[in-house]
Amino acid sequence: MSDTWFDASKCLIGGKWVSPLGGETLRLENPSTGEELSRIARGQKADVDAAVKAAEAALNGEWGAMTAVERGRVLQRMSAAVLEKVDHLAALEAADVGKPLKQARADAIALARYLEFYGGACDKIHGETIPYLDGYTVYTLREPHGVTGHIVPWNYPMQIIGRSVGAALAMGNATVLKPAEEACLTALAFGAIATEAGLPAGALNIVPGLGAEAGAALSNHTGIHHISFTGSVATGELIQAAAARNVIPVTLELGGKSPQIVFDDADLEAALPFLVNAGIQNAGQTCSASSRILVQRGVYDKVCAMMAARYKELVVGPAEADLDIGPLISARQKEIVEGFVAAAKPENILAQAQLAEGLPEGGHYFAPTLYGGISPDDPLAQAEIFGPVQAIIPFDDEADALKIANGTVYGLVASIWTRDGARQMRMAKKLKVGQVFINNYGAGGGVELPFGGVGKSGHGREKGFEALYGFSTLKTVAAHHG
Ligand code: NAD
Repeated sequence: MSDTWFDASKCLIGGKWVSPLGGETLRLENPSTGEELSRIARGQKADVDAAVKAAEAALNGEWGAMTAVERGRVLQRMSAAVLEKVDHLAALEAADVGKPLKQARADAIALARYLEFYGGACDKIHGETIPYLDGYTVYTLREPHGVTGHIVPWNYPMQIIGRSVGAALAMGNATVLKPAEEACLTALAFGAIATEAGLPAGALNIVPGLGAEAGAALSNHTGIHHISFTGSVATGELIQAAAARNVIPVTLELGGKSPQIVFDDADLEAALPFLVNAGIQNAGQTCSASSRILVQRGVYDKVCAMMAARYKELVVGPAEADLDIGPLISARQKEIVEGFVAAAKPENILAQAQLAEGLPEGGHYFAPTLYGGISPDDPLAQAEIFGPVQAIIPFDDEADALKIANGTVYGLVASIWTRDGARQMRMAKKLKVGQVFINNYGAGGGVELPFGGVGKSGHGREKGFEALYGFSTLKTVAAHHG
């Protein structure tokens, strides 16, 4: 894809668009058609080295010298520039990730909102003074880590860049971003927008490439001072091991098996759109997808019927057709998802969505599938499928619901549907997750709300003010003046 404002086959290093030193490019696929969308740079260790050096130089140059207010203004300008290009960014993301245009548009708006929020927060975060011994004045300084690495996945590039790179820049870090090889056009477009909006050279460097090459080079680099990663548990383990060797802090966001828990007294009409959408949005390729629906036995048949009816209305098609659901990201992802379906019992299928007529042959289309009567230890109730597959699991009472909800290796988010206020409080306390939603799911994805997991969903928090603490370090200054 040739574009007038960025060259997809290059890396952004030190404010300049440069070809990867190895001179190689990778094929970027349009998941709706299977056709080549663009060529992207195959960045390698040497490119990552150059990017880390450029980031270090930025810290010692114009970027490092900026005040918090000035940084905030740059981020606000970047936010406004993203909003100006919303339609363009949405079209890029839709073609690259395969998500329906309206979802891609919402992601672009979210990116602008992250930059607005973090731009506004730059000069509102500060250290403290601490009362201490007579003759001392003690205060803390909140400072950037230095060079931060950001390895992002293909499912929500714009949103994840916004919450991770946006917060890191707000605290004055200089960043090196490694977008996913499956989808990286909006990362590069973001680089062009940031440069045009006046982000000093080297504050944001982008090296596309393969995980095992550019990704591994970045996570193992001795010149980075923090790494943030969103993706699979297997890769997260490698990133954490690399961070341990370099003794640097790491933020991991590794997905989940998030439940929605529907009690007999729930408002089912209000719950229905959330129960379904949270499972099929972005074709189920969402870290906080709700792939488990726990339903109390008194309303079990009703919920199954309501969800099945909704599934039958859903239509899957190419991203630009802007239907309910797009294709999966790749042939590999489709194979993974179909593998779960092949291993499951067909008699448990309650409903499937429809595939639109005349789908492009090379697209990675999969009909969302709803299962009922699933036991808590079934693979459909335990594994992160990362596709539009939901499992309905019956439960008896509150204790049973909690045991099932907490009974996976993950702990990202959970929701509770009940009108009983005391039960809402009890459940919210006992659920082992990073976010609990009461009578909703996702709370509209607000950038203000700290987000992250426990268990194999990862650790560290992004979004909200909490991210700013994560992307900074605290220095204590104790002055003895007698
Ligand atoms: P992945 O974790 O391998 O890739 C995510 C990012 O990590 C990409 O940018 C990739 O290039 C990079 N990466 C890969 N190997 C690396 C390495 N050795 N060192 C450093 N960086 C590396 O995920 P995937 O292969 O794209 O998808 C596989 C599974 O991961 C999915 O089926 C899903 O279960 C999960 N996943 C989760 C999320 C999430 O949002 N939590 C996102 C994408 C994938």
